[in-house]
Amino acid sequence: MYPTHIPFNKPYLSGNETRYIEEAVRSGKISGDGMFTKRCHRFFEQELGFKKVLLTTSCTDALEMAAMLLDIVPGDEVIMPSYTFVSTPNAFVLRGATIVFADSTALNPNMDPAQIEALITPRTRAIVPVHYAGIACDLDPIMEIANRHNLFVIEDAAQAIDSFYKGRQLGTIGHLAAFSFHETKNIISGEGGMLAINDLRFFTRAEIIREKGTNRSSFFRGEIDKYGWVDYGSSFLPSDIIAAFLWAQLENMADIQSKRTHIWERYYQALSPLLAVGVQLPAIPDYATNNGHMFYLVCRSLAERTALIELMRTENVQPVFHYLSLHTSSFYADKHDGRPLPHSDHYTDCLLRLPLYYELKDEDQDFVNQLILGFYQDTQKSPAVFPAANLPVSGE
Ligand SMILES: *Cc1c(COP(=O)(O)O)cnc(C)c1O
Repeated sequence: MYPTHIPFNKPYLSGNETRYIEEAVRSGKISGDGMFTKRCHRFFEQELGFKKVLLTTSCTDALEMAAMLLDIVPGDEVIMPSYTFVSTPNAFVLRGATIVFADSTALNPNMDPAQIEALITPRTRAIVPVHYAGIACDLDPIMEIANRHNLFVIEDAAQAIDSFYKGRQLGTIGHLAAFSFHETKNIISGEGGMLAINDLRFFTRAEIIREKGTNRSSFFRGEIDKYGWVDYGSSFLPSDIIAAFLWAQLENMADIQSKRTHIWERYYQALSPLLAVGVQLPAIPDYATNNGHMFYLVCRSLAERTALIELMRTENVQPVFHYLSLHTSSFYADKHDGRPLPHSDHYTDCLLRLPLYYELKDEDQDFVNQLILGFYQDTQKSPAVFPAANLPVSGE
């Protein structure tokens, strides 16, 4: 057994987090939209080129804000991948929407744009592409279909900070986008998120929905002389203590990102021989960049993945699988229209995420790589133990 435990994730403190939290506390204003929140907003808008952003308490909340902003009502339909986190559909289900799940591509778990058009009905309101592992979905065809059918596009960019599509920052392309700063993401604040508003028609109302349905933000800017209840909403703004933590991370984003992509590339280099035996590694199309969010393998079968996880756990390494297709979940199975989504199910059974965090040492990573390569050398000797999955080749 390896002498040190290699966890899946380890939240990274870049240095100034507690100092800034103390500063926030001493400033005497620790509720929302204080000094650090404004600094974070300015960073995204002025340095990264976002039109408008609002920090939120989570990405889940940013998605819920998006559903409110679109005035989703019962019976509206929203198209999204089945291979995603529950928050993606849940935000729309809370407003009564019906979720129409699309399959992933064979290349990577992102939703297949070629399937979207056939899923559109007169009740369709929005498409929600999820940039899985921070790798861009093919957004041009998605935006083109949306524009042609008058639909909104909400990017679930939870994993997609500092990642690009044809040179454009993810989260700046759809009408709205939601980011996460949960401790498992690249840039963190414990819990936290952000709504990016690219269609500025939504901005004033986004501020109102985030402030319990009041026009308090405008009041604080001196634009009106009293504030009141003007719309529905909730409390979606984070304390400035959270923003103080986040600011320390954003200050060090370049360093965090170069470290994470370095680790990602070392995985790819070491494990690329597995491509020859039919194990899939993350595929980054020409139009996308890599933000080092996640490194995964797609094993050839569930049995093979289970055996590999077992081996890694006995060796003190903690790999984890990921989403379970939401169209087969206990909550949604009887609401799904019955279409099979084989690629989503394949990633459900076979995708395995490897440890990836700032402080992962090269020698620890080398150990993980040797374990995996050794495992496949052994299975090559007795391949019948892990029969390859029988996947239809449609939807390439
Ligand atoms: C992490 C994640 C979320 C949820 O983010 P929170 O900030 O924890 O609410 C939503 N969607 C995807 C794709 C995610 O990876």
